Amino acid sequence: MSHRQKGSKQNRSFPVVPYRFDQKNEIFKRAHWDERIMPLLKRLSDKKYSNKDGYKRIDFGLHEAAWNLERSFGFGNWRSNSGLYSWEGTCQDLTDQKRSVPQKTDESPEELSRLIKRAALFFGADLVGICRLNPNWVYSHEFNVLTLDHYPIEIPQGCDNVIALAVAMDYIGMRSSPTAVAGAAQGLGYSQMAFVANTLATFIRSLGYRALPCGNDTALSIPIAMAAGLGEWSRMGLLITEKFGPRVRLFKIFTDMPLKQDAFGSIGVVEFCKTCKICATRCPSQAIPDGDMTEEGPNMSSHSSILKWYIDGERCYSFWAKNHMGCAICIRVCPFNQRPGKIHDLVRFIIRKTTILNKLFVRLHGILKYDKPFPAQRFWDS
Ligand code: SF4
Ligand code: SF4
Repeated sequence: MSHRQKGSKQNRSFPVVPYRFDQKNEIFKRAHWDERIMPLLKRLSDKKYSNKDGYKRIDFGLHEAAWNLERSFGFGNWRSNSGLYSWEGTCQDLTDQKRSVPQKTDESPEELSRLIKRAALFFGADLVGICRLNPNWVYSHEFNVLTLDHYPIEIPQGCDNVIALAVAMDYIGMRSSPTAVAGAAQGLGYSQMAFVANTLATFIRSLGYRALPCGNDTALSIPIAMAAGLGEWSRMGLLITEKFGPRVRLFKIFTDMPLKQDAFGSIGVVEFCKTCKICATRCPSQAIPDGDMTEEGPNMSSHSSILKWYIDGERCYSFWAKNHMGCAICIRVCPFNQRPGKIHDLVRFIIRKTTILNKLFVRLHGILKYDKPFPAQRFWDS
């Protein structure tokens, strides 16, 4: 039923950052207060359509429509506890007593976890797992881009179980990155996140528990998703899942509901990334390192401390501005981006078990032209 990763027996942990990151220093927040980055946001927002494939009026129309639920009602990119991601939504008790605050149900943590995962898939999630919150994954401060306020942020006491969720983005749309059609695929992912987060949080409240839905706000989504068994981090900095690769959007719900934890399990991504450097080679801004992992990132937007690959958010965002549109070329070219199917599933299985064929798989990826973009028109014709 659940598409959650089962994971291998080995490598069941990963390094945890030793301090909390101030979200004000994230590149998307710096675009609202850092004078060096602010002009980039202005340029990124200045969208002009042309006759170029993927940048036509219909492509921008699709982009605006796909983002609309997130931008009008979600706000998961902008601040915490707001819009569809409100932490305080209510749900009436459905029993005969008609209380405004439902009594807690008495199912076991195992059964509640099963029900939550089933409901998450029903509401539209593609992946779901559960973990215990590590306090260092919570941002120390939030920067509210609507008001430009900067303030400490805490998860309410007791809400230390986390439901990690992912929605997959449209494959054909994403293969046209960095066009507006790919931007639409990403925007639809954000809008779907807001819908699933809101409905699943409401379901949890109906069972008598607190539910704090979060988009990109409040806490680091990648280590939460890893701890919940959804996948593994990578050279390009994103989470890679076994079924959809990096082509997912992540979000989470904090709750005081007693739940059974899942576990991290390596799916062979880090070892594969040591051989494969396709994203680093193809990134138009050289934002992805092509060398070994380090303990320090390139600038203040890096959460430096643990050994991993740090991308350069300033370089990445500069390309977004130049393109007047987001970019996901790294997702498009990644071998793990390929759609599920018998052969690709077998390749992922082998990568999880052994590194022996990694070089061959990287070469085959190039030979089969899996790293090449699709014209955006192919999306409209599909
Ligand atoms: S989004 Fe584009 S610019 Fe940014 S790291 Fe990926 S490929 Fe490079
Ligand atoms: S493109 Fe290759 S190196 Fe980059 S994240 Fe994907 S597998 Fe790793």
